[in-house]
Amino acid sequence: MSEVPIKPSVTVKYTQLFIDGKFVDAASGKTFQTLDPRTGEVIANVAEGDAEDINRAVAAARKAFDEGPWPKMTAYERQKIVLRYADLLEQHNDELAALETWDNGKPYQQAVTEVQIYIRLMRYYAGWADKIHGLTVPADGPYHMQTLHEPIGVAGGIIPWNFPLPMFAWKVGPALACGNTLVMKPAEQTPLTALFAAKLFHEAGLPPGVLNVIPGYGPTAGAALASHMDVDKLAFTGSTETGKIVHELANKSNLKSVSLELGGKSAFIVCEDADIDKAVELAHFALFFNQGQCCCAGSRTFVHESIYDEFVEKAKQRALKRSIGDPFKEGIEQGPQIDTEQFNKILKYIKSGVECGATLESGGERYGDKGYYIKPTVFSNVKDDMLIAKDEIFGPVQTILKFKDLDEVIRRANDSQYGLAAGIFSQNVDTINTLTRALRVGTVWVNCYNVYDAALPFGGYKMSGHGREKGMNSLEHYLQVKSVCIPLVNPAWL
Ligand code: NAD
Repeated sequence: MSEVPIKPSVTVKYTQLFIDGKFVDAASGKTFQTLDPRTGEVIANVAEGDAEDINRAVAAARKAFDEGPWPKMTAYERQKIVLRYADLLEQHNDELAALETWDNGKPYQQAVTEVQIYIRLMRYYAGWADKIHGLTVPADGPYHMQTLHEPIGVAGGIIPWNFPLPMFAWKVGPALACGNTLVMKPAEQTPLTALFAAKLFHEAGLPPGVLNVIPGYGPTAGAALASHMDVDKLAFTGSTETGKIVHELANKSNLKSVSLELGGKSAFIVCEDADIDKAVELAHFALFFNQGQCCCAGSRTFVHESIYDEFVEKAKQRALKRSIGDPFKEGIEQGPQIDTEQFNKILKYIKSGVECGATLESGGERYGDKGYYIKPTVFSNVKDDMLIAKDEIFGPVQTILKFKDLDEVIRRANDSQYGLAAGIFSQNVDTINTLTRALRVGTVWVNCYNVYDAALPFGGYKMSGHGREKGMNSLEHYLQVKSVCIPLVNPAWL
């Protein structure tokens, strides 16, 4: 492939740090480059925040929390601002999507859908804003007892590059609905849409200092946020390895509460009663969606032995048909990987799969002559102890494993350090019920995959993290519960 890349229908407007409602340069004056994954060329130079900028952003967020008006205004007022924001996002849907595709490489139509997911999430949490309340609690003596649900204070969010806007929304939505203020650090590979999204929030009426965005690198800006003494809560999404680091930083500083959304190696189980064509299509989507860069990718495709050979042949044909190329082009299913580091890491895993004796059915090499494209790759005859079956590859590499019976596939599917998600493909209700309950994972998709409704919580078992995002479960990360006890001087009833 040596076509000229399509020119994105958007220009980059915001490249500075967003602190206290204003765009400002980094204190150091430093910038870093954000690159177009289609070519490796520079899109823009972005202000590089570090510890000093995190201090400025946290101070702004602290002031906005302590002095208000955000946590002190009525929940209805907050709700109206978030709803106004959602309307504004609708007006900028195409612009945000184009910026996302340019910075990340995901197919443009998918980016349009992800902006819609972002908007839906904002409206969902706007709906919660005025429904958060405590309880009147029965007392053993002459007391009026109640709980107050209060915002926790200044929250910090650190997010990855694979779904920049949805990951931003999963933290900003519940944090702001509960009345907190926030400092977000987007991934260094994809800083552009977070800056745009924060600017629009302020246009919708968000007071200065409530939402601050500091692009920068993990070990500098990210670590400063995780270890900041004035941050009350940290929400992290990224790799398990980095999750351990930020958890430790949080513990060593002020014991801030931490929620972690980490890596995965999810099983997609195709049972013997499956309609093979449908199962092949769904397993393909479960793995290859978003260039295989999904924490919950169905990256271990377990197929019953009675249909294994036919499944492998069809999975290979499907991968060979996958349309790959410039993500701005209509009909393209797969764009480039995010950067050189991921590109090289994936090719290394493919090499290790071949060396370990797995059968390379398709792909296995770069596509084209520039950018970070990798051909859709399918391996059969994969064994559980191969690296490609154990590690999170985070790329377009499907590994197909054979199983005999349910007990065996349950044991093998659960034999992973991760526990993020699983897919089941079967028409048998007993099989579905057995697998659903036996799999040690945070989400089970039955005869579907990659469905991310705003109201359904998402998160991991084991080393895939702890805490849940989305849904009402996420609110508890951003609330403190205060118990209040008042003597009743002249109680008529207790
Ligand atoms: P990563 O861990 O390298 O980076 C994630 C974020 O952490 C980035 O913003 C990065 O700058 C920051 N960071 C890196 N080192 C840091 C440090 N020492 N201190 C503080 N912050 C630091 O992950 P990635 O490569 O950006 O994303 C891919 C990973 O994210 C995969 O493992 C994937 O499974 C995971 N992920 C999980 C979910 C989920 O919901 N469970 C969702 C998306 C991605």
